[in-house]
Amino acid sequence: MEGVKNIISEVRSHFPALETSMNGRRLVYLDNAATTQKSREVLEFISGAMVNKNANVHRSMYALSDLATEAYEAAREKVRSFINAPERENIIFTSGTTASINLVASSFCQAFLKEGDAVLIEADSHHSNIVPWQLAAQRVGAFIKVLPIDGSGNLCTNLAESLLTPEVKIVALTQVSNVLGVENTIAEIIKIAHKKGIPVLVDGAQGVVHSEVDVQKMDCDFYAFSAHKIYGATGVGILYGKRDWLEKMPPYMGGGDMVETVTYQKTTYAPLPLKFEAGTPNFTGAASLLPALETAEYLRRGEVGDALKKEERAIVSFMMEKLSQIPDIEIYGTPENLEKKHPIFSFNVKGVNAGDMAQILDKMGVAVRSGLMCAEPLINSFGATSALRASFAPYNTLEEADYFVQCLQRALQMLK
Ligand code: PMP
Repeated sequence: MEGVKNIISEVRSHFPALETSMNGRRLVYLDNAATTQKSREVLEFISGAMVNKNANVHRSMYALSDLATEAYEAAREKVRSFINAPERENIIFTSGTTASINLVASSFCQAFLKEGDAVLIEADSHHSNIVPWQLAAQRVGAFIKVLPIDGSGNLCTNLAESLLTPEVKIVALTQVSNVLGVENTIAEIIKIAHKKGIPVLVDGAQGVVHSEVDVQKMDCDFYAFSAHKIYGATGVGILYGKRDWLEKMPPYMGGGDMVETVTYQKTTYAPLPLKFEAGTPNFTGAASLLPALETAEYLRRGEVGDALKKEERAIVSFMMEKLSQIPDIEIYGTPENLEKKHPIFSFNVKGVNAGDMAQILDKMGVAVRSGLMCAEPLINSFGATSALRASFAPYNTLEEADYFVQCLQRALQMLK
């Protein structure tokens, strides 16, 4: 027990933000599904790179630019190995999960979606895995189909077979919903879709933080995630794509770096991955994925990984038990098997405004999200117009979960 405590306090010392105060209280940061705090290694890398590696990438014949390019490409290699992609050409840097999904929705659909076709999405999708598909569908007169979830927040995998009709040209799944925290059964759906020759994109924005991802094992065709949710910089995203699809898809944006030759009338494009990386990328931010993913590995490997996993499972049991004891509470995402539940807890208490709860918690130093959480159709399906969400990262503790519950109970006493 003491050993686990020591490991956790050592882990937390890597994240300077966790030692700060808010509203005169020690910060208890429970909005990790929105963005994670950065490790010292990432912060030091970024400030160092701004001085020692700050030159534009892939462009120049001088040493400083080479250093910047090497750091950018080293991060690409780190991402490749982190998600076990076969080649560097599979890894495209974007500005975030949203940009990665927009890239596929726009480029894939331009080539392969026509009038009368459909895109299958999930009922628990984030807006960024809904709206890009609507935009793409509207351009050609295609439509959106929705794979439902059940009352506990489990995906209705049994309906996939019947929903995957011949007009469906691509499936957009969510590995873990940012509201429900439930690990979705995407492997099964990918299998069914592939049997019918339909490619699958997976939104891994939350999934990559909480589970080991192997894109070859998962066999998804595209996988999207954001650096800022996994201890890295904001404004950086990753799109993994199978080479065959990426080769067949037209460029998404035009500009510098994505070209081979340009005339006033015609352009030939750079090979992968640069074909999809027009313009100056956030090269320092992207390069910081190297220390960010090393941080992620440090948090999940060896005795540190074991200790944090144990703490995470204790947090999930504790939170589900304590929250369910609150009168008039409705918790979203309550799988029977708690092994499927990641530490993301969204709920409403009848008669209490989620925003009011969040504001009172903030006064106690607790940072949580309230609102629609970019999942309006899902929140509305619960008959709600907002919810409160506490989302934990591996550096959060059971003690913080306990403090959160105590503060919530005090807030409810004030508001009820
Ligand atoms: N999908 C999911 C499941 C998310 O949680 C988020 C971020 N809340 C996104 C997509 C969008 O990520 P970003 O804003 O970094 O593009």
